Amino acid sequence: MTRTAVRSAVLLRAGAPLELRELHLDDPLPGEVRVRTLAAGLCHSDLHYADGTLPIELPAVLGHEVIGEISAVGDERSAHRIGERVIATITPSCGSCARCVAGSAAQCLRAAQVRQRSRPKLVDGEGRAVQLLGSIGGFADQFLLPEAAAVPLGDGIPDAEGCLLGCCVATGFGAVVHGAAVGPLDAVAVIGCGGVGVAAIQAARIAGARRIIAIDLHPEKLERARGFGATDVLRSGDDLVRRVHEICPGGVDKSFEAVGSPATAALAFEMLASNGVATVLGLERPGSAIALNAELLIEGDRRIQGAYMGANQLPRDIPSFEAHYRAGALQLDRMVTSRWSFEQINEGFAAMADPDAIRAVVEW
Ligand SMILES: [Zn+2]
Ligand SMILES: [Zn+2]
Repeated sequence: MTRTAVRSAVLLRAGAPLELRELHLDDPLPGEVRVRTLAAGLCHSDLHYADGTLPIELPAVLGHEVIGEISAVGDERSAHRIGERVIATITPSCGSCARCVAGSAAQCLRAAQVRQRSRPKLVDGEGRAVQLLGSIGGFADQFLLPEAAAVPLGDGIPDAEGCLLGCCVATGFGAVVHGAAVGPLDAVAVIGCGGVGVAAIQAARIAGARRIIAIDLHPEKLERARGFGATDVLRSGDDLVRRVHEICPGGVDKSFEAVGSPATAALAFEMLASNGVATVLGLERPGSAIALNAELLIEGDRRIQGAYMGANQLPRDIPSFEAHYRAGALQLDRMVTSRWSFEQINEGFAAMADPDAIRAVVEW
């Protein structure tokens, strides 16, 4: 067994900056690939683990919205080739379980087995295992993936834009097309105009939604949302549901919550038309509960649902993302609002607080 020295940004203590450390990465086992990192998006989930809002065992390497190129394969039967660019996914699928064959690859029943391995991927200088967010750990020079978690990408999308496909675009776009099946008859509202939200807005535009209402606290984000295809924008605050009804009498057909709070999830439900569907995407704190207006539930046919990671079907979705990008319809370039070197990763996290920010991307 050999291990490769990799430079990693390690979370040693919640709330402390990430520390650049040399760690030791295992060789790929049969069925795995080693990936040399090209770019990683800083996602709010990473931030929530880094600041302790969400729990994770420490030490840990975060980073799950990541693109890289294959630097080694675990066996010669691998479907991947050295040098191939791949998007990492935290929802690898076996392709043959009941959920996979039913088209719900993100709910694969064997995802844990797909990720399982006989020894830790990454260890520190003393040989202690280091945790990896989503079994990826993309905030490092290199990382290991099961083959099923490495989705090939063509060469039409640059690295910094390409990494977004793995989390915020997969989630926001997927929720619209797979989760809620938005079409031309639908009026849509999107609460939260960060990476996931603007991906949802663009998908709703591409799907032909008749009306797209963007909702956020920050006027800067609302201005950007218009550029991505929002037909109307509303600043969060009092009377939000009434203001949505002013734009769409009776309420919206499909709403999307991309904030991660029980209050905004409840609002997403309240602004629905009587047969509408609310899709909750933001990561909620463990144990939190959403209080629904019972009258609206009983007196209508409203539904509220999840769409974990956009109910993605990444091997099928990625070529579509590439086609929409080439056609100018999926504007990934405008989603990258700042770029940082790996050494500047903590500055990148600080930049996420900028109300104008959509995605900060670290490039290797
Ligand atoms: Zn993410
Ligand atoms: Zn499966």
